[in-house]
Amino acid sequence: MVSRVIPVDPFDLVVIGATGDLAQRKILPGLYRRHLAGQMPPEARILGAARSDLTEAAFRAMVADALAAHVDAAKQHPAEIAAFLKRIGYVAIDVSGAAGWGALKAALRPDVVRAFYFSVAPGLFGELAERLHEHGLATPQTRIVVEKPFGRDLASARALNATLAAHFAEHQIYRIDHYLGKETVQNLMAVRFANILFEPLWNAQYIDHVQITVAEAVGVGGRGAYYDKSGAMRDMVQNHMLQLLCLIAMEPPWHFDPDAVRDEKLKVIRALQPVPAPDIVRGQYVARDPAPGGAGYLHDAGNPASRTESYIALKVHVANWRWTGTPFYLRTGKRLRARTSEIAITFKEPPHSIFDDARGWRENVLVIRLQPNEGINLKVMIKEPGPGGMRLVQVPLDMSFATALGEDGTDIPDAYERLIMDVIRGNQTLFMRGDEVEAAWAWTDPIIAAWEARGDRPQPYDAGSSGPEDALMLMHRDGRRWREIRE
Ligand code: NAD
Repeated sequence: MVSRVIPVDPFDLVVIGATGDLAQRKILPGLYRRHLAGQMPPEARILGAARSDLTEAAFRAMVADALAAHVDAAKQHPAEIAAFLKRIGYVAIDVSGAAGWGALKAALRPDVVRAFYFSVAPGLFGELAERLHEHGLATPQTRIVVEKPFGRDLASARALNATLAAHFAEHQIYRIDHYLGKETVQNLMAVRFANILFEPLWNAQYIDHVQITVAEAVGVGGRGAYYDKSGAMRDMVQNHMLQLLCLIAMEPPWHFDPDAVRDEKLKVIRALQPVPAPDIVRGQYVARDPAPGGAGYLHDAGNPASRTESYIALKVHVANWRWTGTPFYLRTGKRLRARTSEIAITFKEPPHSIFDDARGWRENVLVIRLQPNEGINLKVMIKEPGPGGMRLVQVPLDMSFATALGEDGTDIPDAYERLIMDVIRGNQTLFMRGDEVEAAWAWTDPIIAAWEARGDRPQPYDAGSSGPEDALMLMHRDGRRWREIRE
């Protein structure tokens, strides 16, 4: 199946923080792939902006290096790279000062879609919005793309929302959560709302529980000092994992329209119950000596007294008619056994077994895999083939997007490139609205405040393991078990 590419309107995209890690590793390579796919009209232009005093030629050389490092070799076509680099300009600006804004204004066209991608430190987001306004860069056709983290608690998120709202309308603000840009995540909505099969079963009567896992094999590495101020709850649960939970738990929106979808997600966030202490397990990785692959968390964080969690597991309840009685178990952590992200929906037992030998019986599980190998897999029971009576066996109905949609999966756009094209198209469905972000913090804040007030210490877990012992117990005590963490 070859995906159709519909070109977007001409645009000026300004990547602010264009010399930084995110721009070089994700944004610019992603834009090249969209160029290669034919999604950019000839008039589309990309402007890098950052503090470094670079010539346009030097910035283009930097982008060429970024493409060489971060684009699949099969997609590195010299003529296309040259054509892509021709779209690119550079302006040196200082978000905290006056330098460069006049040159930036002069470089932009008044009559095309204009987008500013805020790929600078989160402490600069508010100031940057003010600068754009002050220098007359915010036209009615302007959108801003705001990176994560969006605040570190409800108060800071509200303050940032207020600053952005002073200069931009909500329909111009694109708060990015790259998890929502993944093919599988959108497919979750297609599976739920474009098929009749699942929706009648999609409730506490038929679903036993839901597991959401985002496991990383790497530690906090060079970002230790930054991460230590945040932790897994703020860094992963408040945003990415809650967004995934919302897509599973939300009611069908009346239409696939940005506000209709986001209204339904917001209702889920508002229905989240406070999480009591016994339903939370926090952990910190430790590396036994000699440590293959690195040191322990305290060393990586540069803070021997740190109480920040590099792992968290929680049992979450959504208090509404559909979900009361079905727990959502969330877990995420660093330095775990493998890098994997998935949602697993475990259905209940049939009400009565007609088979004498039900030893092979297992629950139906719908697994939505975000990485690696994006795809959906439904585990169903069948008869074991061959003579010898009716023996049951579970088999996966596998829909791997890589094989279903492209020769080798390389045609599946990366989350960032898909989301940037949505920005240009003016489609906010996959971006978080201000009230959603605030509601998510309103749920998160008291959980964090409670463990801080108790002075809880995270439980150590071995680097390369599946997480702390207590996290296993969180499931065992409910007669359930986590799925194995593996690639
Ligand atoms: P970085 O430190 O590598 O890059 C920051 C960029 O901002 C550089 O280009 C720098 O020149 C520019 N900059 C700094 N101060 C400036 C100023 N006063 N005026 C103009 N430009 C200035 O950071 P990063 O890792 O690329 O992250 C960028 C944003 O993306 C951050 O908000 C981060 O939280 C978010 N983010 C990054 C990643 C990632 O993988 N790197 C992932 C998720 C979110």
